[in-house]
Amino acid sequence: MSKWKWFSDEESKGLDYGLMVRLDMARDLCGFPIVITSGRRDEEQNANAGGTKESSHLKGLAVDLRAPTGQNEREKMIWALGRAGFTRMGLYTRHLHADCDPDKAHDIVWFGESHA
Ligand SMILES: [Zn+2]
Repeated sequence: MSKWKWFSDEESKGLDYGLMVRLDMARDLCGFPIVITSGRRDEEQNANAGGTKESSHLKGLAVDLRAPTGQNEREKMIWALGRAGFTRMGLYTRHLHADCDPDKAHDIVWFGESHA
C-alpha cells in the first residue's frame, strides 16, 4: 500500500514530502483524478523535457500535471492546488506546473506553452 491516498509510490518517487502532502490534498479537493506527467527528473530527463538548468523538478520540488479537459476542471484544479498550499504555479496550455521550491519566488502564477 502506498503512503499516499491518491498516488502510488512509483508516481511519487523522488518527490518532496511536503509537495506530496499538498498534492494529495489537492486531489481530495478536486474530486477527479490528477495525473502526474512529470515528477522528479534527472539531468537528462530535464533536458529532454525542455526544463531550465535550475528546474525545481531536479530537486523533486515540482510536478507537471495533465491539464484536465472536462467542464470547469482546469479552473477547479488551479483552485485546489492553491487551496492545498501551492504558492508557485505555471499554467501551461496542456499541463499545470505545481511547485514548492523554497529557494524561488512565491505567491506567483505564470503562463506558458506546453512543449511535450
Ligand atoms: Zn514543470
